Amino acid sequence: MASSSVTALSMRDYLAHTSETKSIGMTRVFDEDLTAGFGTRAIHAGQRPEPLAGAIMTPIYLTSTYVQDGLGQNKGYEYARGKNPTREAFERNIAALENGRHGFAFASGMGCLDSIMKLFRAGDHIICAENVYGGTFRLFDKILQHMGLSFSYVDTRDPQRVADAMTKATRAVLLETPSNPLMRLTDIAAVADIAHRGGALLIVDNTFASPYFQRPLELGADIVFHSTTKYLNGHSDMIGGCAVVRDDGLGDRLKFIHNAAGAVAGPFDAWLALRGTKTLHLRMRQHDANGREIAAWLAEKLGHENVYYIGLPSHPQYELACRQMSGFGGMISVELGTWARAAHLLGKVRVFALAESLGGVESLISQPAGMTHASVPPERRAAMGLSDGLVRLSCGVEDVGDLLADLEQAFEGIPSRLAGNGKREAGEKPTATPSPAPARSIA
Ligand code: PLP
Repeated sequence: MASSSVTALSMRDYLAHTSETKSIGMTRVFDEDLTAGFGTRAIHAGQRPEPLAGAIMTPIYLTSTYVQDGLGQNKGYEYARGKNPTREAFERNIAALENGRHGFAFASGMGCLDSIMKLFRAGDHIICAENVYGGTFRLFDKILQHMGLSFSYVDTRDPQRVADAMTKATRAVLLETPSNPLMRLTDIAAVADIAHRGGALLIVDNTFASPYFQRPLELGADIVFHSTTKYLNGHSDMIGGCAVVRDDGLGDRLKFIHNAAGAVAGPFDAWLALRGTKTLHLRMRQHDANGREIAAWLAEKLGHENVYYIGLPSHPQYELACRQMSGFGGMISVELGTWARAAHLLGKVRVFALAESLGGVESLISQPAGMTHASVPPERRAAMGLSDGLVRLSCGVEDVGDLLADLEQAFEGIPSRLAGNGKREAGEKPTATPSPAPARSIA
């Protein structure tokens, strides 16, 4: 997008305050990888047979440093915080999947976001979507705010609200689409345009959709990032994050921060994530198929108004989902009305596991208010419609019949006073304070 490159240029000047030290060299996609289809990229991008023995799988380079041939003479690798060949392969892979140019792998999704925010400085203003992962809000509210950044939380479903919140100090708009856990969407292209016109960057958390279903850089975003802990790795066996950009100047700044702040992914985690992305396209198709079927079943049982799934035509932003995504995925939230109903359902499931996180091959179920979003104050949760009766399902890739049977029995097990179709009863408000209070989550 033209507006994107104009912004990137001006941002490069703005970001020059961190550029006295030359970047140690970014990871850049192999251009030939960008001509392949998604599944081919997933399996091959960024990876070439290893030169020593021809190993088809990228080795795990477990080393902290690299022997140098002479002073000032090395093979392009000096110290492993700066560069690691296993991490580079993953960075090239994810950059190709997002149709970007430069990828950066981090130790966690939060470490990634924290490093992205180091692009900015005290006095800068950031517009953040009001419904984001609770840890994102916590990072902004409890840490970065005290370091001089200011934040406005906006319902980004309406791009006009973003435009209204822009100030001269606004340097970035950050959003999650679909959002965690309310499955709200933001029109990426429309908000990119607004951000760029105001000289700000658009940063998109693409964790829920994955690049298989949505590629924000193609819609005008400047930075896309992920918790690779989720769909990209897909097997719930590591914690990681990654960011991808197209612009060389922005990439250079992120590379500087990546090395200088040092929240980098370890080689084993990078290797696990690289193995995970090889099946991303296959897994996402099955997550999507299962998600659609389970959402339809839940909508039948609970009423469409109590099921938040972007692939249901009853979702208020279904048309936008069809426009900017190529599938809907496996994330569903349902409104059960009370904490007690949520607790009963979560206590009865057998195939779905009661656990934080999402995006793995196995199905998980959680209560965001007491778990992933416990660090969001109750009044703020209530204002955005995140109730204690909201339950989030991450539909895995098991046989859908088993998942439906599990839900069927879990709903049946709910005592009769909580039975029925799960809808809120007339006059019943979603409870604000659960009783008994759940243990406070640190996730
Ligand atoms: N973004 C989203 C949408 C998330 O759901 C999460 C974690 O749940 C994060 C970011 C943070 O990622 P991590 O847990 O890998 O630090």
